[in-house]
Amino acid sequence: MKPPLPALFISHGMPVMAVDPGTTGQFLADLAGQLPRPRAIVCISAHLEGVCALLTSDIRPETIHDFGGFSPELHRRQYPAPGDPALADRLVHMLRKAGLESQTLPDRGLDHSAWVPLSLMYPQADIPVVQLSIQTGEPPGYHYRLGSALEPLRREGLLILASGGATHDLAAMADYPRSAPPAPHAEAFDQWLEATITSGNIDQLLDYQRAAPAAGRNHPFPCEHFLPLLVAAGAGGPSATGRRLHRHFEYGVLSLAAYRWD
Ligand code: ZN
Repeated sequence: MKPPLPALFISHGMPVMAVDPGTTGQFLADLAGQLPRPRAIVCISAHLEGVCALLTSDIRPETIHDFGGFSPELHRRQYPAPGDPALADRLVHMLRKAGLESQTLPDRGLDHSAWVPLSLMYPQADIPVVQLSIQTGEPPGYHYRLGSALEPLRREGLLILASGGATHDLAAMADYPRSAPPAPHAEAFDQWLEATITSGNIDQLLDYQRAAPAAGRNHPFPCEHFLPLLVAAGAGGPSATGRRLHRHFEYGVLSLAAYRWD
């Protein structure tokens, strides 16, 4: 039997990474090369939100340029990976069985939190992708449970890829150039996050809004860039301890850290 694929959390940073990969883009390309090739990818997106768990079910998802003001090259970029409607249907049933309301979302393409990192990881765009929404009206524990329900998929050759941001103080980003060193409040949160994940302290992780330094600045409500991480942690399984795979900051306040749970 093949070993299970890990559950991953990656930070997608700014869309410009698709055309100017930098350190983190290179990391993502290398990471994909180290993993067994997945049969399909379930991408938990910071930029897809639902009142219940939504699974994209378009067989040919369009590339959504859900951003503005970047180069024409970036706005033209396409990532024509297929969808997998049968997998989306199956996931809906799995989640409902776990007591989590869920439905498919037809006619919805891939947003940049999926296609930007995937275009660096799997540039052939030949692995089916289904996106799963986060629910910002639901608490951290809900997102962990969502991940737990997906854990068995890792033994079937599916890659659970949660895409958000380890720190995401977007309001302060304009104050820093891309190459700026980490701002103290972002670095403090980033270090807390690594210590908490690698110690396997799930209760502490789920209590991040109270327990982490400057949580409100690094992840202002509705915390959409943090919630995918909790889904990945849940998909690691109850005995998994996370490992940090990558550390890099851009614009002083965007940690592009990545983690895996096995
Ligand atoms: Zn984002």
